[in-house]
Amino acid sequence: MKLRKRKVLLFLLAFFLLYALWLSFSILRFKTYKAPALKPSPLEIEGAYHIHTTYSDGRKSLDEIAKLASQADIDFIIITDHGNPNKESYSSQDWKEGVLVLAGSEVSVSRGHLVALDFELPSGNFSPNTEDAFYEIREAGGFSIISHPYSKSGWSWGEFMDYSGIDIISGYYMLRRNIFASLPSLPALLLKPEYALLKMFDNPHRNLRKWDELNNLHPIYGYFSADAHLLYRPALNLLRLHLLLQSPLSEDFDTAQHQVYEALRKGRFYNSIHAAAHAHGFRFWGEEGGKTTPMGSTVILDSSVPLNIEAPFPFAKEIHLVHNGKMILRSTENSISYEAAHPGTYRVEVYLTERSPLDKNIPWIISNPIFLREDEK
Ligand SMILES: [Zn+2]
Ligand SMILES: [Zn+2]
Repeated sequence: MKLRKRKVLLFLLAFFLLYALWLSFSILRFKTYKAPALKPSPLEIEGAYHIHTTYSDGRKSLDEIAKLASQADIDFIIITDHGNPNKESYSSQDWKEGVLVLAGSEVSVSRGHLVALDFELPSGNFSPNTEDAFYEIREAGGFSIISHPYSKSGWSWGEFMDYSGIDIISGYYMLRRNIFASLPSLPALLLKPEYALLKMFDNPHRNLRKWDELNNLHPIYGYFSADAHLLYRPALNLLRLHLLLQSPLSEDFDTAQHQVYEALRKGRFYNSIHAAAHAHGFRFWGEEGGKTTPMGSTVILDSSVPLNIEAPFPFAKEIHLVHNGKMILRSTENSISYEAAHPGTYRVEVYLTERSPLDKNIPWIISNPIFLREDEK
């Protein structure tokens, strides 16, 4: 009996040692890919979207979060505290620690959670009815984004309105959903939190399918949304929006705010999983009459439109061009030009090499689309 007990103990010990070895090896091997030679462009700025603070149910104050954002080398953050709207966070928008801090509100409406951005503070509250709130936000000069459409409470779809955006990754809900599946990597949260969080990612195919479907009705832009409530240091490094500006970000708060919202309203941005690799320098553009047309724009299709993609990263394995939700081109080149001859929605996904901690089926970059429309003559 004693011998059997000892055998079990030895077995458990060996198992634990092997596990500890595996975890240490995985953590030591983990690194965020960075392209060494790329010169950053002042026209591309990076930020984290959908962050909660102590103004609602977040664990840290706005000032503490701004400090962490500054350490994470972020140009802007968009906080989205709950409220119809959240007036306290709204009045705290400013430059903090060299980071542009903008505040929208996550409004609870009848169909789910809707983030309102770039609005003038209303005298009363936004309505709890989705359709009414949508028009009130628009009336106040703002625009709205559907949040975490497939969380537990989710979004109940009605007749589609002119929403500006939708979450294609909702960080917080994805991590919560996969916490049990990624138990073996979970202790790494204490040592290398980015590694542990990347191991909790899955392919956001449900969101992507819905996004592609909605784009058949109306252009709508896709967001990687952190929905951070805690673990801010890794959360700020996890997902990024990369905005392409027309002039470098102004030092004047109002002008800078306008520049950020202008890029979001026009879909001039792409999304990246920043903890896996740094994406600065990705480009996707079309050409129309000798002029370039950026992501987010609608181009009139005459006979064909050249679509150009640049992903100048040694660690990028594959570029996928997606048309109306279907992959039509797959390439291992860093630079592609494609003659698009059919109307519809074109967008790009970029995947990393196998050595990345990000599962090889999860897109590292997701661009916003270029829409080709036939001329209504
Ligand atoms: Zn929410
Ligand atoms: Zn939220």
